[in-house]
Amino acid sequence: MLRALILAFILPAFISAAAPVYVVLWFDTEDYIEPASDDAALRIASDLAKEGVRATFKVVGEKARVLEKRGRRDVIEALSYHAIGYHSNWHSVHPAPAEYLLRMGYLEGADEFERREAAGVADVKRIFGKQPVCYGQPGNSWAPQTNLALRRLGIPVYLDEGEHVGVDDQPFWYGGLLYVFKMGKNNFRARLNVGAEDLAAYKRFDEAAARLASNSGGVISIYYHPAEFSTTEFWDGVNFARGANPPRETWVKPRRRTPEDSERCYGVLRQFVRHMKAQPAVRFVTAEDLPRLYANPVAKAVNLKLVVNYLGQHIIFGEIDGETLSPAEMLMALLDVKPHVVDGPTAPGATTYSEPTIPVPAFRAAKADAADFIQRFHRLPNEVFVGSKALSLADFAATLARGSSTAAEVPVVRGSLEFERYFATDGRKAFSWVIHPEGFDGTPLLDLGRLQGWTLKPARLRAIN
Ligand SMILES: [Zn+2]
Repeated sequence: MLRALILAFILPAFISAAAPVYVVLWFDTEDYIEPASDDAALRIASDLAKEGVRATFKVVGEKARVLEKRGRRDVIEALSYHAIGYHSNWHSVHPAPAEYLLRMGYLEGADEFERREAAGVADVKRIFGKQPVCYGQPGNSWAPQTNLALRRLGIPVYLDEGEHVGVDDQPFWYGGLLYVFKMGKNNFRARLNVGAEDLAAYKRFDEAAARLASNSGGVISIYYHPAEFSTTEFWDGVNFARGANPPRETWVKPRRRTPEDSERCYGVLRQFVRHMKAQPAVRFVTAEDLPRLYANPVAKAVNLKLVVNYLGQHIIFGEIDGETLSPAEMLMALLDVKPHVVDGPTAPGATTYSEPTIPVPAFRAAKADAADFIQRFHRLPNEVFVGSKALSLADFAATLARGSSTAAEVPVVRGSLEFERYFATDGRKAFSWVIHPEGFDGTPLLDLGRLQGWTLKPARLRAIN
């Protein structure tokens, strides 16, 4: 009893002084078939504005064009109060991104994504009057080639959910983008179909917020689709399921909620938002705010000796000298390449070099060659040549970190890619989405994504002043 009393007095003070808890509330705004979803987007955007809460609306290119054609300046303006993201050009009209990128390499796929998607980004930018600040794939139609394309398109944040890649249920850097993805226990919602309020979600939120606040702070990711408030089934499921691609004139509309039921749903969200807002240390942030909250994706120069020690043991991101470095950054540090955003290898290289050691001059030449490759192409090589034979990038990195530079010969060391455990391995499960063709297997995309794990590292919140 005494303990409970003390806690009751101490806890509120403790929480208010605790690390910040950021709520990213986002809405995939995509139904371009049922006009009632336009009204739902308008209502949600206005309700949130009244609460003083800014959210992120990820808009589909065709949705933006349809709003413009229908003369819905009111919707466009209401959404523009919030952050605007991009949610693909056509969403569920086939081919979806994972479908068209499945058999493409990294560079070719990035070009293809840009070819298909740049016009949609431009439309969203023109119609909403601002550059989309984030992207998220339709369904779980994820593909790693999008990272490079999004950087070229000037989109710095990847905001979505999926199980393809994730780091400890918090934001991370991957392919030079700030990813809010695979948020695990920090991703949930107030369910729309359990009555006037979802009390279980409040409890879940309070627990998550207390957990984050008592550590070093963090992000809670919550998402909806405006269409969920106006219809009882998804607009795309009724048209494009399992690879179906009917012509536009035969598209059917999803079933509607009654106006009273929609009203109840708006209430569920409003009450949930009020509950979250009332908690100390909680702040709503948008995809626009996220890059400012997190430290730069490129680590500062660090003590090389510490890098050697770390990379010699593990090929995975790590804390060195107070900085979080990706293996790509460690490699650049050891090669004396100015730190910058790079992509990972485009294919798994193989080691064909069979001697146990490499003469120092030959290894020096290999190092210079690797550094030149990275500086020229802004990506890591698949393999590094020693004369006519090659070392895979993993073996090269391990050899670089552990080979003693004073010896006449550098011993070849095998590297193992520990970052691979942050990636999904089941290509059917990770891409199981009702819109993809039956049995769609995204294994090649996971393989390509895993290669990009050289660039993976947790994102660290900036110290609060
Ligand atoms: Zn979507």
